[in-house]
Amino acid sequence: MTKTTAFAKLYNMVLRYKEEYERLGPGSAATDLIEDFFDEALGVCEEAAQYTIIRNSAMCLKCNEHIESIHRHDFVVCKCGNIGVDGGKDYLRRMVEDDSKYKDTSITYE
Ligand SMILES: [Zn+2]
Repeated sequence: MTKTTAFAKLYNMVLRYKEEYERLGPGSAATDLIEDFFDEALGVCEEAAQYTIIRNSAMCLKCNEHIESIHRHDFVVCKCGNIGVDGGKDYLRRMVEDDSKYKDTSITYE
């Protein structure tokens, strides 16, 4: 799923839930509906985030090691400890000692 597909899906979801919420009016049924909405929206966001990141990686310009985080909790540090990447395909997290001594080589959908 690309960002555009995810956005369209979310947009339709908001409209669908808004209509249903207005039909129900305030009350416990509406509260349940809101909880369903959050669950579904988070699911779409997580799905979208996964497919947006193709490769989560960086090149250390101190030790010249190229490192890649494969999955969400895969925290990888280069051999000199200057740069660490984390988050896999879910998010791009960086731990950097010297900001000018690394190159981000990640691939993401625009
Ligand atoms: Zn290094």
